[in-house]
Amino acid sequence: MAFRIAWSVFYAVGLVMVAGAAQRPSDTAQSSGSKIVLIGTGTPAPTPDRSGPATAIVVNDTAYLIDFGPGVVRRASDAAASRGIAALQPTRLRLAFATHLHSDHTVGYADLIFTPWTIGRRVPLEVYGPPGLKAMTEHLIEAYRVDIETRTNDEGNQRTFPDGYKVNAHEIKAGVVYTDKNVTVTAFPTKHAMESYGYRFDTPDRSIVFSGDTNPTQATVDACRGCDVLIHEVHTSAWLAARPEAGGAPPGTFRRFSEKYHTTTEQLAALATQAKPRLLILYHYSSLSPEELQADMMKHYSGHFVIGRDLDVY
Ligand SMILES: [Zn+2]
Ligand SMILES: [Zn+2]
Repeated sequence: MAFRIAWSVFYAVGLVMVAGAAQRPSDTAQSSGSKIVLIGTGTPAPTPDRSGPATAIVVNDTAYLIDFGPGVVRRASDAAASRGIAALQPTRLRLAFATHLHSDHTVGYADLIFTPWTIGRRVPLEVYGPPGLKAMTEHLIEAYRVDIETRTNDEGNQRTFPDGYKVNAHEIKAGVVYTDKNVTVTAFPTKHAMESYGYRFDTPDRSIVFSGDTNPTQATVDACRGCDVLIHEVHTSAWLAARPEAGGAPPGTFRRFSEKYHTTTEQLAALATQAKPRLLILYHYSSLSPEELQADMMKHYSGHFVIGRDLDVY
């Protein structure tokens, strides 16, 4: 498989590594085949070095975004420049898949709609996601009505390419939701606080599964089943115990929510032991530090895993 050849040229750039022989991120675009670019690995917390949840798969010079948290366009632009991945230039962002409509995963939507347009994207966005996506899209476009009118009137800078802010929003159900010559994208239901989906991308060289935000589910195990890469959310129980409630909410509010709708290291280890990904990437993690998360995960899981960091390329 080209996948194995591609991995052989990867090398370390200081990422937290485990299990010696584990795959390592590349800091360039020299490897052949599909690439996974961690655009943002953060959570709702506005951590300066971890942008909002967003990931890109790049296949044959085409980028597919999964989620669009805050900072998505600037981080993609950074990846295009610093990693040499031209498909992530902002004007070339035109395909995206939302796992769910929580704000931390979608606050960058207006950015994704308007910023690439202002600098030259001429074609509408194609966005796939759960029911509610169309309404969110319509409301955002309405919210920027003054901007759109100003940019497309007789003296507007975007008047010669007035379609670049438009969005074709596709509301999905479980199953194959998208296919082209590079990828087949299959959505599967996850267990979160609203209708939510994970995605499996089958590219010419790899199978890549995204959990989105979720409690452990059999559907995630089934979507992977020996997949090449599983990218899964996680937090540590220690972080959960130490976390103060936001806004003075009653004690235990977030812990109870998290027990229903998120995944701990112990749970992820059990899930990955069943799902058997060749590589497990932890993202959207809440922990006291990446080092703490690594140490905690190592207690429970003996397979290959890495702690995802913004702008890592796999
Ligand atoms: Zn969420
Ligand atoms: Zn989230």
